[in-house]
Amino acid sequence: MNDRHDPAMSRRAALRLLAGAAASLPLLGWAASSPPEAADATGTIAKSAVQYQEHPKGSSFCANCANFIPSRKQGAPGHCTIVAGDISPKGWCLAYAGNG
Ligand code: SF4
Repeated sequence: MNDRHDPAMSRRAALRLLAGAAASLPLLGWAASSPPEAADATGTIAKSAVQYQEHPKGSSFCANCANFIPSRKQGAPGHCTIVAGDISPKGWCLAYAGNG
């Protein structure tokens, strides 16, 4: 087996992992209609693909989602392991994964 790092292979593996994880979560109907090609060069997907919104959906919001990466600056937007761009802590999308 070849142990050399292949970025293209890593990206494909990450997308397969994302697709598999997405299919196993109940609120991820977007996964079936959003093939891995929807991901950009960074491996994240467009906000529109997951119906991202800048406000919470009930008690669900980005700051309590397992995919959220908070900013080190208080009050600044964070990032997401799945969705591209700046992410509001008060936002929400179809890929929401509650923390508990
Ligand atoms: S997956 Fe969706 S809800 Fe969760 S942090 Fe990313 S954008 Fe917010």
